[in-house]
Amino acid sequence: MSGVVDILGHAQVIEHLWSRVRDDALHHAYLFEGPEGIGKRMIALRLAQAANCESPEPPCPCGQCKTCRAIAAGNHPDVVLLEPEPGRATPIITVAQIREMIRKTGYHRYAARRRFVIVDPAEAMPPAAANALLKTLEEPPDGTGFVLIASRGASLLPTIVSRCQPVRFAALDVPTVAAWLEARGESDALARARLSMGCPGLALSLTAESLEARQALRDKVFRAVGRGELDPIFELSREICSGGRPDWAPRVELLMQIIEALVRDASVWASGAEVEVLDEPRLAERAAGALWPHGVTRMSRALDDARAALELNAAGRTVVDALLVRLSTELGKI
Ligand SMILES: [Zn+2]
Repeated sequence: MSGVVDILGHAQVIEHLWSRVRDDALHHAYLFEGPEGIGKRMIALRLAQAANCESPEPPCPCGQCKTCRAIAAGNHPDVVLLEPEPGRATPIITVAQIREMIRKTGYHRYAARRRFVIVDPAEAMPPAAANALLKTLEEPPDGTGFVLIASRGASLLPTIVSRCQPVRFAALDVPTVAAWLEARGESDALARARLSMGCPGLALSLTAESLEARQALRDKVFRAVGRGELDPIFELSREICSGGRPDWAPRVELLMQIIEALVRDASVWASGAEVEVLDEPRLAERAAGALWPHGVTRMSRALDDARAALELNAAGRTVVDALLVRLSTELGKI
């Protein structure tokens, strides 16, 4: 589609939203849901540009007019980005932020045809903040639309979800992301595309060190769970969770990404689909044999439980112990 060719993938989502812009029929609240680093915020901002672009000629958005440039620079008064306040120990969107946004959107729009409020990530709203948003989300001020962005829509209040039109963003296939990285002159394109699980934003942020760290942790995980004994598992869990939360949280996230990649590889491999698996094919084949089909379901649920527990500030050790024991049980000796 002309004008949005620089957005990687998501053709159907873009086609749908842009046709709504053309028909002046945008829904008043969207929930963009999909993995992190996949371009949800970027498309929300492009949507705000498309709905307000001053250029009468395609492409839309033009990216050049005053409005397009102000939105891209993050200083258009009618495009409000609600995100966790920087510097807080727990990254949340507060009730005060929601109230301030509601107060501001009660005024006339400055210049835009359509005002946008982008909440990213929507999961950062504690229940009190989400409840403060409910009424405005249901009946927004004239000419105002919401885009809520979430990687795990399931963790949002059902009353929030039910007020939004869902827009699902799927991960891209690995060769597409690899080709995109290569075209940008990035190194280790294939390895980074695999590691990002098809999320270009994440792939771009990966470094040689993060690739090595993942490889090292993955080797340790399979050594520990492959023996069918608890001691090596608890020893690895202790190692991963050493130090304070800021130290171990990124390691636990990496662990979960490694397990997610394995589960996804198992599904892809077992389905016989002609797509490139994310990790080593040899490992995927063996995991598929062990995990498919019920182990994939149980392991996915274990990962969801782990993320939910971490959001509630559970101790890292408790979460990692449970995850690794579950993985060991499901894989047997891989
Ligand atoms: Zn423009």
